[in-house]
Amino acid sequence: MKKVISAMLAAVLLTTAFTACSSSSSSTKEKSSNDLYQRTELKMDTTIDLRAMGPKARTAVDEAMNRLDEIDQEASTNNEKGDVWKINNAAGKDYVKVGPDTLKMIKTAVQYSKLSGGAFDISVGPLIKLWGIGTEAARVPSDMEIKAVLPLVGYDKISINEKDSSVKLEKAGMSIDLGGIAKGFAVDEVIKIYKKYQITDGLINLGGSSIYAVGKNQSGSQWTIGIQHPRLDRNQGLLGKIKLSGEALSTSGDYERYFIKDGKRYHHIIDPHTGYPADTGVMSDTIVIKGDVPDANMIGDLLTTTVFVSGVDKGLKFMESLNGMECAITTTDNKVYASSGMKKRIVDLHPDFKEVE
Ligand code: AMP
Ligand code: MG
Repeated sequence: MKKVISAMLAAVLLTTAFTACSSSSSSTKEKSSNDLYQRTELKMDTTIDLRAMGPKARTAVDEAMNRLDEIDQEASTNNEKGDVWKINNAAGKDYVKVGPDTLKMIKTAVQYSKLSGGAFDISVGPLIKLWGIGTEAARVPSDMEIKAVLPLVGYDKISINEKDSSVKLEKAGMSIDLGGIAKGFAVDEVIKIYKKYQITDGLINLGGSSIYAVGKNQSGSQWTIGIQHPRLDRNQGLLGKIKLSGEALSTSGDYERYFIKDGKRYHHIIDPHTGYPADTGVMSDTIVIKGDVPDANMIGDLLTTTVFVSGVDKGLKFMESLNGMECAITTTDNKVYASSGMKKRIVDLHPDFKEVE
């Protein structure tokens, strides 16, 4: 399926030091000033913006870009040479040997499927194909079509053989989709490369939806990240801003990939139980996780998708049960619900929204 790439960044970077360098252009860009090195490219169906400071900044960023290509190739559903394509192609038939990246993402995904009661489920592949959201084939399928594919969805039908690093989908017609976890995983991998080259200040931004702020910005302050207003273009206004340092930020929203038919919005986050785009009154949710939590970005990525599907009550309860993580949720009635540690962290809240005390 050909994806229509959205050039829209889901969050905007706001730093005075970087205004001259900030770019959301879809073309490949390279900038170097003082000791800052920055590359902006389209990869993983989104705009990637990597910035690093220090003597080894260029080496780190260039190596990180190559690493992102590697991850993208394994995780893509369209690449016949990649692990995910091979797993999907062998559904109902064989175990497929996979690399450590794929194994880690699938293992983590299944673990969080169990924890979330199936709100997060990478086996939504058949539903993603049916809806085609974000592609030229997007449409509203019939109830019958949805019911027909629902038996092919279920993380309990993903078999993992850790010993020989292989994965099998138990039913023919099943397919997995790592779109809700791969970007976060990729950010964690970039962090490893930054560490290898002693990058103590920089920014890793995968499409605005998975961001990690390393150290400080060029003027020596914490990074200030603009969070996307779910109903406004970024040049029209933000939901608010948040300061970050050594933390992962992830956002999921119904504005990223969607279409509107007969006044109803159909978006890309699917409720695996119903087969329809999750309809719990959530417009977007943002999670911040401390950098010392293992796999912080991967967990943040999958959790924003999970909270979106779970809705405010279940989502916030789930987040409060986890350590080192905070969450804010915007709803269709223009409220912001925040977990205890997130309250007041979002500053300059847009007047369209009211934070629930
Ligand atoms: P995100 O933008 O991180 O919320 O991820 C959304 C992407 O994850 C979609 O484009 C799909 O590829 C995939 N996806 C959609 N619904 C689910 C779900 N319930 N569980 C896991 N992945 C999903
Ligand atoms: Mg996600």
